[in-house]
Amino acid sequence: PLPWRLRLGHVLNRIDLRGSRRDPRGLLPRAQLDVSVAVERIRPLVEAVHEHGFSAIREATEKFDGVTLERLRVPAEAIAAAADVLEPEVRAALLEVIKRARKVHADQRRTDTTTQVVDGGTVTERWVPVRRVGLYVPGGLAVYPSTVVMNVVPAQEAGVEGLVVTSPPQIANNGLPDSRVLAACALLGVTEVYAVGGAQAIAMLGYGADGVDEADRCEPVDVITGPGNIWVTAAKRILQGRVGIDAEAGPTEIAILADETADPRHVAADLISQAEHDPLAASVLVTDSPALADAVEAELEIQIKTTKHDQRVRTALTGEQSGVVLVDDLEQGLRVVDEYAAEHLEIQTRDAREWAMRVRNAGAIFVGAWAPVSLGDYAAGSNHVLPTGGCARHSSGLSVQSFLRGIHVVEYTEEALRDVAGHVVALANAEDLPAHGDAVKVRFS
Ligand code: NAD
Repeated sequence: PLPWRLRLGHVLNRIDLRGSRRDPRGLLPRAQLDVSVAVERIRPLVEAVHEHGFSAIREATEKFDGVTLERLRVPAEAIAAAADVLEPEVRAALLEVIKRARKVHADQRRTDTTTQVVDGGTVTERWVPVRRVGLYVPGGLAVYPSTVVMNVVPAQEAGVEGLVVTSPPQIANNGLPDSRVLAACALLGVTEVYAVGGAQAIAMLGYGADGVDEADRCEPVDVITGPGNIWVTAAKRILQGRVGIDAEAGPTEIAILADETADPRHVAADLISQAEHDPLAASVLVTDSPALADAVEAELEIQIKTTKHDQRVRTALTGEQSGVVLVDDLEQGLRVVDEYAAEHLEIQTRDAREWAMRVRNAGAIFVGAWAPVSLGDYAAGSNHVLPTGGCARHSSGLSVQSFLRGIHVVEYTEEALRDVAGHVVALANAEDLPAHGDAVKVRFS
């Protein structure tokens, strides 16, 4: 343990960086997910699905989900029926959330641009959606209709033609995926849904699989997105290269940059809401106000008592991945949150917007008192599939862009090629690839 990491009878660890000029790098340890071990454990299953298709999927599903699959694909009637039995308030919420997400993601569409490089020479960048996408929707410990929305909407707005959803079969739903997940598919117009979970689902999407008949076949996809447990993540890592994947999702995180103007009740509630996801979830408060830190601690003790998943929350908050970081001022706080590169970052300070605009690394930023992370989890219109584990330094969350490829279309006239021929030949010779130069020269000889 580091000398400045103190527990002092608090729920959260305290990391005191006041007066320290030390680089905050490495002072905020994260839960580590050892995917490489899981990759080796799960590889035989992925290979079995590649080789044997349905029978291997069926065997794995019996073993891990306790369900005997009769077909891979969920019948259309079952998807429609799930929408019919959806509770009215959940239906209304999903429809509103879909509308907001569509609005934001529609604005992310790209238009093709043509650059006139020289007279007679242009490069057009065409944005082309991938043909077919597989969306994994988890369904082990909890079920996530909101994740259906967050994966499907950007793919649809990108113009993807073939959208497939796969989610674990539930014993409680007669071996079909969770009824609310199916209902979300129905509300989004997704008709190709498979009752397969875990690594076997990822292998099915990547390699394709014959089902019991022609109508039950899953064709391979080009891109796989969606969160999942370590087996899902490991299988995605194995399939990467054969298909495109989104970022590997580790345990979820929140960092809150707050000063003495923040309401400790809000801060505590938001730290708890993130901790509720997972015992490995990280909740980090960065503040220049020891009084706020103390008040948040007091609030945590009060609110944990009445929260439903109190054990999970306490484990996450007291874990070494969570804590309060005390800083001299918000400038130092900004350096800490930038170094941490949180999946979710809340700014609860005076002039919150100005601070938010100076942040360099975060998956998504929630500004001020009225934009808690749980708004973003469901109903802000933003996407909730975001980079974790510091990946926000180099990656963004799921968006329309995740489902597009930019293709350069090069058009040159004879004159334009003649004008630049000497430069091509010079560089080809410099790289000892003279046939490259010859391919230009032959056109003018
Ligand atoms: P899951 O669907 O990822 O995994 C369940 C499947 O795992 C089962 O269908 C089963 O076939 C397989 N499985 C179970 N035990 C296995 C074993 N021992 N070996 C091989 N396969 C096994 O659901 P989950 O487990 O609840 O995990 C979901 C994860 O996704 C959680 O960590 C959650 O926090 C995360 N999540 C993230 C987001 C996000 O946007 N970042 C959203 C929702 C969920």
